[in-house]
Amino acid sequence: MLKFERVNSFFFVVVLLVYTFEVPKFLYFFIFLVWLVITIIGSFHIRWNYHLKALHSNPHTNKKQVAITFDDGPNLEFTPQILTFLKKHNIKATFFCVGKQIENHPKLFNQIVNQGHVVGNHSYSHSNNFGFFSHKKVLDDVNKCNELIYENLNVNSNLFRPPFGVTNPAIRKAIAKTRHHVIGWNVRSLDTKIKNPEKILKRITKRLKPGDVILLHDTNKRTLVVLEQLLLFLHEHQFETTTVDKLFEIEAYV
Ligand SMILES: [Zn+2]
Repeated sequence: MLKFERVNSFFFVVVLLVYTFEVPKFLYFFIFLVWLVITIIGSFHIRWNYHLKALHSNPHTNKKQVAITFDDGPNLEFTPQILTFLKKHNIKATFFCVGKQIENHPKLFNQIVNQGHVVGNHSYSHSNNFGFFSHKKVLDDVNKCNELIYENLNVNSNLFRPPFGVTNPAIRKAIAKTRHHVIGWNVRSLDTKIKNPEKILKRITKRLKPGDVILLHDTNKRTLVVLEQLLLFLHEHQFETTTVDKLFEIEAYV
């Protein structure tokens, strides 16, 4: 798989060769363009592990299990509905919570944990500009969310999922300091973008296999509709559900 440093070294050698052979100038621009495209795609595809090592799935699991994850809550309108549904079906999931949402809804945040679900850090701000933050700003943002988790649970979160799944050198440097396990996904539902629940469900179930990590959001009504159908599918195909710490055999809290 492509890695940021390896790609940079490769392009450095290419530029040296081009320089040595005195080729037309437009080639420099072309080489830069190719480098830029690879780097942008790598930064937006957490599964490439382009900037840092993230856990996306565990195909080596010896159980027929998948992990359902919910991002961007706790959400006052939809998280309670999802919690009620999960409780009814005795399902445990992982919630990657946004710090400012924890700050606004601490009771709901505690309810998630009290129901036996696992929570992880999904940054404090979930800013649209998170991918452009300096390493110091990323560190402050992630630590701020961690502090809120600690205030509520008396434990430090050991799991981090970057907002939008974006990674870059600043995020890598910050996470090297916080020492979180970075958790990605390998089944992206696009439940915040696709309007039709059936299409979302199809995206999730078409190639679902043991060890997969499913990305959903507890921020809209569609997700609840999808969840109901997804649980029927899982039951029908004898899939169990688990939390990401158990799937990857790591500690959720330290
Ligand atoms: Zn998010």
